[in-house]
Amino acid sequence: MLASASRRLAARAARPGPKKFSSLAALGEEHQQIRDVARAFAEERLYPIAGEVDRLHRYPGEVVSELGEMGMMGMMVEEAHGGGDMDALSYAVALEEVSRGCASTGVIMSVNNSLYCAPVRANGDETQLAEFLAPFAAGEKLGCFGLSEPGNGSDAGAASTTARDDGDAWVLNGTKAWITNAHEADAAVVFATTDKSLKHRGISAFLVDTKAEGFSVGAAEDKLGIRGSSTANLIMEDCRIPKSCLLGERGDGFKIAMRTLDGGRIGIAAQALGIGQAALDVAATYAADRTAFGKPLTNLYAIQLKISEMACKLEAARLLTWRAAARKDAGLSYTKDAAMAKLCASEAATFAAHQAIQVLGGMGYVSDMPAERFYRDARITEIYEGTSEVQHVVIALNVLKAYAGESTALPAAPHKPEHEDVAAAA
Ligand SMILES: Cc1cc2nc3c(=O)[nH]c(=O)nc-3n(C[C@H](O)[C@H](O)[C@H](O)COP(=O)(O)OP(=O)(O)OC[C@H]3O[C@@H](n4cnc5c(N)ncnc54)[C@H](O)[C@@H]3O)c2cc1C
Repeated sequence: MLASASRRLAARAARPGPKKFSSLAALGEEHQQIRDVARAFAEERLYPIAGEVDRLHRYPGEVVSELGEMGMMGMMVEEAHGGGDMDALSYAVALEEVSRGCASTGVIMSVNNSLYCAPVRANGDETQLAEFLAPFAAGEKLGCFGLSEPGNGSDAGAASTTARDDGDAWVLNGTKAWITNAHEADAAVVFATTDKSLKHRGISAFLVDTKAEGFSVGAAEDKLGIRGSSTANLIMEDCRIPKSCLLGERGDGFKIAMRTLDGGRIGIAAQALGIGQAALDVAATYAADRTAFGKPLTNLYAIQLKISEMACKLEAARLLTWRAAARKDAGLSYTKDAAMAKLCASEAATFAAHQAIQVLGGMGYVSDMPAERFYRDARITEIYEGTSEVQHVVIALNVLKAYAGESTALPAAPHKPEHEDVAAAA
C-alpha cells in the first residue's frame, strides 16, 4: 500500500534537485524516499513561487493540484477513497518538506489532510465517504474545518453556532472564524450545537457543501504570514443541509474535534519544522558566503552559537514529531506526544526564524531575502490548532494523570518508557 503510493511520488524523485540537509535520525527506506520526493518537489516547484505567493496573497492552486496528483492531499486516506494510503510518519516528513518550500502551501495541504479528510474518513458512512472524502483526498476538491468562532477559539466547547433539526434537513446558524481554505473550499466540517444545555456534549459535526443555501464566506483576513492561504469567516444564515450530513453521532462533535486536532498537531509541528529548517538553511548559506573583518561569518563564535542552537532545537523537535507520528501509526495514545511536538516545533521555528534574521543582519530585514517571510510565517504555528499555552495545559494534565496516586517521597516513574510501548505494538 505504502509502496504503491510512493511509486506515484517516486516518479517525481527522478528529477534532480539539491539535497542540502540530512537528519541525524534515520528514517526507513520508504519514508526516506517519500521525503526525497517531497523535497525535490518543494525545491523545484514551491520554493521558486513562495515569495510571489506571499507578496500577492495568491492561492497557489497550480501546485495544490500537483500535490493532489502525487497523493499528498489525502495522504492517510486509503487508495479506494482517493488517497495516498500512507502513514502519519510519511505525512510528517512530506509536510515538513512542502512547508520548507512554501509555508502557505504547507498549511493548505495540512488542513485538507488532517482537519478535513481525517475526521471524514474516521466518522463518515459509505455515502459520505464517496461524496465528501474521495474527491477531496484525490486533490480534486478542497476542504476546511470550522471549529473556532468570533467569541471562542481556545474554549472550543463554548460553540454558539446552532444546528436545528427541521424534518428532512439540519438548519445551521452562526459564524465560524479564522477558517483556513475558506475561500477555495468545496466543503467544510462544521461544529454546531444541537443542544446548548448539554454544553460541549451537545456539539455535533456536520458536512457542509459550501454551495449550500444560506452559506457564505466573509472577507479574507489580511495576515502577517502564510498569506497564500485564505483565512475568513464561514457564515451560516438558515443554512439548510440534508439530514444525511450529520458526521458521526449526534453529540459526538466535541470528541471528533479534539481527536482531529490531536492528529492535526503533528501536521502543524511538521509545518513549523519546515519553516524553521528553511530559516536555518538560509542562515547557514549566507553566513558561509558573507565576510566581516576579512573572514566568513561562519568563523565567528557568535554566529556558530546561533547555528548550533537553531539546529539543536529543530532536531529535537523533529524527533518529537516523528515519535508522535510513530505512536499514532502504532495505534498508541499520542495526545500528549502531538502536543509536545507542536509546542516544541513551533517554538523552534520562531526561534530559528528570529535568529536567521540576526545572522543576515540588514539583509534579514528586507524582502530581497526570504528570512523575513520565514519569521512572519513561523509565528502562526504557535497559535493555530491550539496555542502554546493550550499545549502546555494538555501536556501537564497528561503528565499529572500519569502521576496520580503516587505518594512516596521519591515516586517511581509512573509508567515504562513510551518507546517500549512503541516497540511492543510494532
Ligand atoms: C491564520 C489562522 C488560521 C486559522 N485556521 C483555523 C481553521 O482552519 N479552523 C478553525 O477552527 N480555527 C482556525 N484558526 C483559529 C485558531 O485555532 C485560534 O485562533 C486559536 O485556537 C486561538 O483562539 P483565539 O484566537 O480565540 O484566542 P483565545 O482563545 O481568545 O486566546 C487568547 C490568549 O489566551 C490564552 N488562553 C486561552 N485559554 C487558555 C487556557 N485555558 N490556558 C492558558 N492560556 C489560555 C491563549 O493561549 C492566548 O494567548 C486559525 C487562526 C488563524 C490566526
